[in-house]
Amino acid sequence: MVYVKYVKRSVKSTLENPSFIDENPLCVCSEEIASIKKELISENDDLKLKQKTSSLYLQITQEAYRIVVKITVPHHYPEEQIRVELKESNFPDLFTKFFCGQSLEISRQCIQPPLKRKPKDPPFEPKPALWPIIRFLIKEVKRFPHEKCPVCKERCLPSDPKEVTEDPNNPKFVERVYCGHIYHYDCLLSYLKTPPFQGGKKCPNCGNRIYHDRWKLTPNMAEARWAHQEARHRELEEYDPQIAMWMFPVLLVKWHCISTCSSCFSCDVTLVLLVSLTYSLFVTVNKYLDNIKNC
Ligand SMILES: [Zn+2]
Ligand SMILES: [Zn+2]
Repeated sequence: MVYVKYVKRSVKSTLENPSFIDENPLCVCSEEIASIKKELISENDDLKLKQKTSSLYLQITQEAYRIVVKITVPHHYPEEQIRVELKESNFPDLFTKFFCGQSLEISRQCIQPPLKRKPKDPPFEPKPALWPIIRFLIKEVKRFPHEKCPVCKERCLPSDPKEVTEDPNNPKFVERVYCGHIYHYDCLLSYLKTPPFQGGKKCPNCGNRIYHDRWKLTPNMAEARWAHQEARHRELEEYDPQIAMWMFPVLLVKWHCISTCSSCFSCDVTLVLLVSLTYSLFVTVNKYLDNIKNC
């Protein structure tokens, strides 16, 4: 509300001199910019004004990570929506998309009334979006580089941005879940697959339910899947392919001997051949079962 007053005053003072507005379009948010510089921008960050293009270049740095965004303030600010463009970033793609997407969402919420309004709500008025957008960007960019994975308690993003992996199946790929906390891909996966499941899996950091596009399992489905996997592991552990490997050819040849020749040389040769063949067959089966076990 304070900024609405500031903006209205700025617009009023410049209406008498339209050319001044053309040459200094950022004057519509000059007091907002002054507060941002004073309260939000730290010595590692930078905010440059470009009056010619009615835009601001914001650079935010945290450790070795940084982003640069261009924020364009429209002529009819704050009634018209602010534009945010990413100019540079060494964060993983997932993060830069979140920074830009959420900034646009904040600017949209400042100019559009909410879909579900309560009858007692005052009439909607567009609000200046510059301050909330910059406050959001600074808070999030400063938080992520040193944030620790709630499962293994190690930092999620490597200290050197060049070591960041963009492969979503890499164990060290960093996932951001609905509550906003970040996890290593492998840590999140093993946490989601381990009981208890009732009530849904909760984020160990904030206690909120974990939602993610890649894992859409109800607690019952997760429980059933886990029980099935455990049963399969037990079966695999109890099953000894060595016994079957030796029993099968011996029984086969013995059955042949009893029913026909009651022991002969060809039976012995057949037994050796069958044993070696069965041995290779069961080695292959064993390897396959091991692979399943490790999945
Ligand atoms: Zn981890
Ligand atoms: Zn959380």
